Amino acid sequence: MRDQGRHAGPSGLPAAREGTALYLHLPFCAAKCHYCDFFSVAAEGQDIEGLLAAVRREIELRAPRRPRTVFLGGGTPSLLSTTQLRELLDTLERVTGFRASAQEVTVECNPESLSRDKARALLDLGVNRFSIGFQSLNDKTLELFGRVHSAEQSFRAYDAVRAAGATNVNVDFIYATPGQSLDEWRSTLERIVALAPEHVSAYNLTFEEQTPFRRWLEQGRLEKLPEELELEFFHLTRARLAQAGLEAYEISNFAREGRACEHNLGYWRNREYVGIGPSAVSKVDTTRGGNIKSVGEYKRRIAEHAHACEWDETPSDNARLGETWWLGLRLAEGLSATQARERAGLAPCDAQVDPALAIARELGAQGWLDERNGVWCTSARGLPLSDAIAREFLRLGSS
Ligand code: SF4
Repeated sequence: MRDQGRHAGPSGLPAAREGTALYLHLPFCAAKCHYCDFFSVAAEGQDIEGLLAAVRREIELRAPRRPRTVFLGGGTPSLLSTTQLRELLDTLERVTGFRASAQEVTVECNPESLSRDKARALLDLGVNRFSIGFQSLNDKTLELFGRVHSAEQSFRAYDAVRAAGATNVNVDFIYATPGQSLDEWRSTLERIVALAPEHVSAYNLTFEEQTPFRRWLEQGRLEKLPEELELEFFHLTRARLAQAGLEAYEISNFAREGRACEHNLGYWRNREYVGIGPSAVSKVDTTRGGNIKSVGEYKRRIAEHAHACEWDETPSDNARLGETWWLGLRLAEGLSATQARERAGLAPCDAQVDPALAIARELGAQGWLDERNGVWCTSARGLPLSDAIAREFLRLGSS
């Protein structure tokens, strides 16, 4: 719900409330991966210090006080030196007091830039959750991905964060990769389970627009696995990880009890968040806005205009409602029509006239959604069809 008296800042977005989740986007990577469509650039030759100075400035300008969660993503934040990370996180502490307020502070890391000393330093600086990009345990696949580390290095990085004292670790994987067999993924899952992480993110490979992978697919240089086989990967992943105590709390995310990623839960529950850094998106009240996707322009705009917001929008009531259902149905916990309206910033209404509830009932009748005590969840039959379910709700935005 919109607060009276909250004024739009220079970026066009209202000022965020105390406690709002905070995301910092640090866009540098050792090299650009061939499947990646995030805004990130190879670090070599880049003015990293200049970008970090601009990010620190943006923190001072608009970071929410006492954030509930903090997420350092990118890009590869672990690529930064300990000194750079200290300067950044000390600025964040001075401005927001996050070390006392945030229940979860995650940093995304890649194996080539994660040593025991760096992990120790990050823990001392207030980080309490590490997310490590393994992606694959097959070195040939890692090479195809354009990753600059081996599987062996991933295991060493994992051991390093544990040795440093980390007690909350996520490992990131991509499955259904070109040429991958179900047996290969089965043995990868065994090795993941043997590591005993608190959290696993496992995504079916997608061929995003404007990536080398998409181009190679179109040129016939890469082959996508058949959908039926992808579905087998999906079911195998859920079954094996559940057996190991890692429950699917979201379509691609698995956690031990109490270890779901709080920051990301906020996105799926359509809560507010502030994003800082090039390309970072914020959502405050019912308005969304995004920073420019350019390191040079970001620095210039922060220096000259005190914000780098390139676009903002307030989606229509129906669009917000449809998005809220789409996001909420990705979670195993599901959502009720009342929760959906509240999260979308809408007043309660009679069930007969809620357009999203009408769609939920239709999908329920087809067996794609289950309903219990007014809470709607994606059914076992609907889970592999989550993209189609999303489309049904997202079309509300054009009605
Ligand atoms: S390391 Fe991550 S953010 Fe960087 S290019 Fe690879 S997938 Fe993208």
